[in-house]
Amino acid sequence: MTQYPTLLSPLDLGHVTLPNRVLMGSMHTGLEETKDWNRVAEFYADRARGGVALMVTGGMAPNAEGGVFPGAAGLFSDDDIANHRIVTDRVHNAGGRIAMQILHAGRYAYSPKCVAPSAVKSPISPFPPQELDADGIEKQIADMVTAAVRAQEAGYDGVEVMGSEGYFLNQFLVEHTNRRTDEWGGSYENRMRLPVEVVRRVREAVGQNFIVIYRLSMIDLVPKGSTWDEVVTLAKAIEAAGASIINTGIGWHEARIPTIATSVPRRAFTWVTKKLMGEVSIPIITSNRINTPEVGEAVLADGCADMISMARPFLADADFVAKAAAGTPEKIAPCIACNQACLDHTFGGKLSSCLVNPRACHETELPIATAITAKTVAVVGAGPAGLSAALTAAERGHAVTLFDKADRVGGQLHMAASVPGKEEFLGLITYYETAVATSNITLKLNTEATASDLATFDEVIIATGVLPRNPGIEGQDGPNVLSYIDVLRHKAPVGERVAIIGAGGIGFDVAEYLVTNDSPTENLAEWLEEWGVADPAEHRGGIDPIGPQPEAPSRQVTLLQRKAEKLGKRLGKTTGWIHRAGLQMKNVRMVGGVNYERIDAEGLHVSYGEARENPEVIACDTVVLCAGQLSERTLADALTSQGKAPHVIGGADVAAELDAKRAIDQGTRLAAAL
Ligand code: NAP
Ligand code: SF4
Repeated sequence: MTQYPTLLSPLDLGHVTLPNRVLMGSMHTGLEETKDWNRVAEFYADRARGGVALMVTGGMAPNAEGGVFPGAAGLFSDDDIANHRIVTDRVHNAGGRIAMQILHAGRYAYSPKCVAPSAVKSPISPFPPQELDADGIEKQIADMVTAAVRAQEAGYDGVEVMGSEGYFLNQFLVEHTNRRTDEWGGSYENRMRLPVEVVRRVREAVGQNFIVIYRLSMIDLVPKGSTWDEVVTLAKAIEAAGASIINTGIGWHEARIPTIATSVPRRAFTWVTKKLMGEVSIPIITSNRINTPEVGEAVLADGCADMISMARPFLADADFVAKAAAGTPEKIAPCIACNQACLDHTFGGKLSSCLVNPRACHETELPIATAITAKTVAVVGAGPAGLSAALTAAERGHAVTLFDKADRVGGQLHMAASVPGKEEFLGLITYYETAVATSNITLKLNTEATASDLATFDEVIIATGVLPRNPGIEGQDGPNVLSYIDVLRHKAPVGERVAIIGAGGIGFDVAEYLVTNDSPTENLAEWLEEWGVADPAEHRGGIDPIGPQPEAPSRQVTLLQRKAEKLGKRLGKTTGWIHRAGLQMKNVRMVGGVNYERIDAEGLHVSYGEARENPEVIACDTVVLCAGQLSERTLADALTSQGKAPHVIGGADVAAELDAKRAIDQGTRLAAAL
């Protein structure tokens, strides 16, 4: 008997029965733009082998004007069909099913040629769109229908019509972006005409034996968004137009409410999808922040949907469903919703991957093959770099001994896990503990390895991490000064008024830790209130007119840096704004361009600019040093001085801008080549 009876139960769509209730949601990975179709095919085939019922590709533009950016992947011409056929054949041979997403970006397209219902510029694109005339609208419909027909010819099992997230079809639905007075604007019946017409004509063109998913925005999270009545009206019309499944979209891209970041509670929006259950008779899929089979099962058992969609969890682990079905959910590498290697890469114009699984989107380039010669391998340091190196080496058949002076594996991940909103890191630590325990690695905790301990190993990997940088500020040895390690790891008592020196990732984390009593990530009602999310049946778009109502900060915090730039500028592309907004809501004062003069009983003395002007005392009870880190290379240097050649990885290699993504990637790649 499975632990997940609902999740793993089949879903009958009429002409086809899906083997379980798990959809891999659409992700823009950048793979299709590489035009290396073998690589694209292997990415999807790997996930098909992992047992997911149905996958949706990244968004494919139906025409040049609908592309998210110039050159975005699409299915513009019959010539593209053969390329897509490579993907569908490989997926079908692997026993899977795949639908192609048709994505028209409308005014979100990063292109001067973008088109929209009305000439209303989006806040997230520099390009004002051109308003389409009636012929232009007909052309967009025809192109979307043609893309669906080509998808069918290319062997896809269906299409997903992207109607949410504020893209083209969504832009027709609300008056803010649709100011038209013709049959495509005005009344709601007119505003929803385009999405309904697209689905109707797609169904007409592809026949009955083809899956047509419509992704519908259930809660827009923007002012002047759809009302709940409008959402239900649209869902019914989409069903009548011939859709097989309704998938959920949460929030427009321009929304200033986080929807998928790690600080968003798990299954934060499944209550919205649940409201639609019973309104239509076709299956409904729910999504956002579902990342374990337990959560997926609970969502379905609670009647929130007929199926769940997860996207990023399939970057973290292609075998998510197979491992759940095998009764080994603890072996699933967890997506921690950090966005660091997926969405941050996408928005930085780089190929996606995954922090916890560097092989994601690199399946053909980073194989983990059994080693030709099994070696003895010592790994010193069981943080992210050392863990990934040790596990990969062990998987390849090497005899690995892993040393750490701490009493648990995980290294700096433990500090991250103690920060409110970063609870997902706990799951990652547990995953690593299980993975090490079930491998043939010899684990030596509470052991500070010496050069002589390492003398007999064939290969030595040093992953000893980092030490806090000494900023050399007068008075920093005083009783009112702590390091981030004292605060996050040793839970040292901290006063009511705090100055934080250094506003990198750790300075922001410490600030969050110090102003938060109870993590709203662990309390959905509190989180919704904190960000001003309302029931869309009560307030248009799900925006609470009162606005965000954060809990009062538990301390008065000032966050400082020497650089004159905006604080948090170098945080993650897709999550930095959330960290900044969260701290601003807690009245954290952010000060840049300072010189640190000294620390005394009064607090932190600073001045500004090269001339050290405008002296100011940041009155505080505690100063916390978060001034960056330096490599811990004592052991590496000792080995080198003995003529050895250890491999040095992670923070011990380069401390600057160290993060778990780089550490895990480096550890995995080294061990894959040993
Ligand atoms: P960091 O990001 O390099 O920031 C170090 C901070 O210390 C900067 O604000 C820097 O600003 C300041 N600083 C540097 N030298 C200083 C000196 N001599 N005296 C005083 N201040 C000094 O390093 P981190 O905060 O330690 O974080 C380490 C890494 O962990 C980051 O690179 C990040 O990738 C990762 N991390 C990421 C997250 C995340 O949210 N994604 C969270 C935590 C950690 P000024 O030089 O302008 O003063
Ligand atoms: Fe999840 Fe982070 Fe991996 Fe993206 S990079 S899939 S958010 S763990």
